[in-house]
Parts: sequence; C-alpha cells; structure tokens
Amino acid sequence: RAKGDGRGVYRYYADEMTRIARERLHIEARLRRALADGQLLLHYQPQVDLRSGRIIGAEALVRWQDPEQGLIPPVRFIPVAEATGLIGEIGAWVLGEACRQARAWLDAGLPALTVAVNVSPRQFHQADLATQVMQVLVETGLPPTHLELELTEGALMEREAEALQVLQRLRGLGVGVAIDDFGTGYSSLASLKRFPIDVLKIDRSFITDIPDDPDDMEIAAAIIAMGHSLGILVLAEGVETAEQLAFLQQRNCDRYQGFLRSRPLPAQAFEQLLREQASLTA
Ligand code: C2E
Ligand code: MG
Ligand code: MG
Ligand code: MG
Repeated sequence: RAKGDGRGVYRYYADEMTRIARERLHIEARLRRALADGQLLLHYQPQVDLRSGRIIGAEALVRWQDPEQGLIPPVRFIPVAEATGLIGEIGAWVLGEACRQARAWLDAGLPALTVAVNVSPRQFHQADLATQVMQVLVETGLPPTHLELELTEGALMEREAEALQVLQRLRGLGVGVAIDDFGTGYSSLASLKRFPIDVLKIDRSFITDIPDDPDDMEIAAAIIAMGHSLGILVLAEGVETAEQLAFLQQRNCDRYQGFLRSRPLPAQAFEQLLREQASLTA
C-alpha cells in the first residue's frame, strides 16, 4: 500500500515534469517564431546621475509583443530562452538593436548617453562575447564607451578564470561592465577587486524598504562605500520614492534608476524625455 502511494507520487511528479517540458517546448517554438517575425522589442529605462539629476544612460529591457497575448515581460520568457539556449540568438538581437538605437540617438544630436545591455549567464559563457560585441560596434558605428554590459555575479563566479579573460577583452575594447542585482549573489571581495568592473548596481531588494528597514540602509551604504574604495561607481536600482533618493544622495551614491524618475519606455517616448532634458538646459 505504501509502495502504491509512492508510485502515485512518482507518477504525479513524472506527469508534472512532462507537462513543464512540453510547455517549455511550446514557448520555445513560439519564441523562435517571435524572433524571426520581429515580435521582440526593447524598452529603455533612464539611468540618472544623482548629483546633476541628468539622464546619462538607458538600460535596454526586452519585451515580447505577442499578437494574441500582448506585451509579455522578460520574466516569462528569458528563463526559457536561457534553459533552451535560444538566449544566444535573443541576446545577439538585443545587443544589435540597442547599439543601433544608441547610434541613432547620437546621430540625432541628442545628449550623449550610454546604453546598458543585459547579458545572461549562459550567453556570457556560450558565445565569444567580446568578438560579438566588437562586430556589433563596427556594424553600428557606436563608440565603445557608449556601451555597457550588465552581468550577474553568478555569471562571473562560475568559471572565474574564463570570465576574467572575457572582461579584460571587453575592457580592452573600451566597453563598460556593470554587475547587475549586486548583493544577491555571492561574489567575494577578492574577485571584485580582480575583475575590471565599472559599475555596481545595488539590487532593488535592498532599496525597496528604505527608510523603514535599517538593515537595508546599512547594506546599501556599505555597498556604496565598498564600491568607492575599489574605484567602482555605484548605481541604485528600483528607486521609487523621494526619501530613497535623499538617502542615496546623502550616502554619496553615483547613479540611480527607478520608477521615481521613469518606468522603462518605448524608444520614442524615451527620446522625448531626452529632448525635454536638452531643451531645459539649453
Ligand atoms: P534587471 O536587469 O535587474 O532590470 C531591472 C528590472 O527592474 C526591470 O524589469 C525594470 O522594469 C524593473 N524596475 C526598474 N525600476 C523599478 C522600480 O522602481 N520598481 C520596480 N518594482 N521595478 C523596477 P523588467 O524589464 O521586467 O526586466 C526584468 C529582468 O529581466 C531584468 O532585470 C533582467 O534580468 C531580465 N532582462 C530584461 N531584458 C533582458 C535582456 O535583453 N537580456 C537578458 N539576458 N535579460 C533581460
Ligand atoms: Mg539589468
Ligand atoms: Mg537588476
Ligand atoms: Mg535581474
């Protein structure tokens, strides 16, 4: 009887796994078609200099415009793309599109900015990223200093020696490197010191409960101080309130991103924001 129950449980999980595998295949097939049909698009969120209040960068964030389901957020398809390997093609498309857009803004005479592109762990390790980046820069004519790649702690800590080589090649090209979601992984101070990193992005989870959570305030302040002592700029993610901004200002944080300034926007709306900023200071 117990045995029978065990088999039942096993059967349940086996069915469940089959269901998940099928669903993944289904999404993968649809995603592949979406890529081919041009259903992916980028939104851009301002990155703001904390001292001047000016927009100095744009993080490119992918969305999937599905004819039936509407706008699908990256959490619903990036993990599938990562698991199936399709992330290589999606990542290449995102990189090319973000660089093309940044070049177009430069050509339109808008204030110079850096476009930040997310690179998933598998994409970082599977492709020859530095070569791919170099090709895209040549094709689009975007100066390397206008591109920043956002990597996660996990991507860097896995196969550290190899990661270090890739980072050094990117640095050699003149491309910036940021660590995304910083504080959620487990990178050591030793590796942070060794890696050529330009920006640490404090994960949103440490910003959300400021000023109610004194621990989070200590953590955010510690990350800012540590970054600065290593010569790394620090950006706070997910800033939603004026109190959070004031705290970050007081702690000498360099940059921020968040709904307080703007949600991620379609390219045209982002461009409008840049034009308003330019006319305000002209
Ligand atoms: P991320 O790189 O940490 O991007 C920041 C996410 O936080 C974005 O969500 C953004 O909309 C959201 N956010 C920004 N400010 C605020 C705020 O003030 N409050 C709140 N609650 N949220 C805020 P999004 O666009 O849904 O992207 C989620 C994640 O998907 C990204 O996290 C990134 O890990 C991944 N992702 C997005 N685009 C790409 C891509 O092109 N390639 C790869 N590999 N991953 C991507
Ligand atoms: Mg990011
Ligand atoms: Mg992040
Ligand atoms: Mg993230």
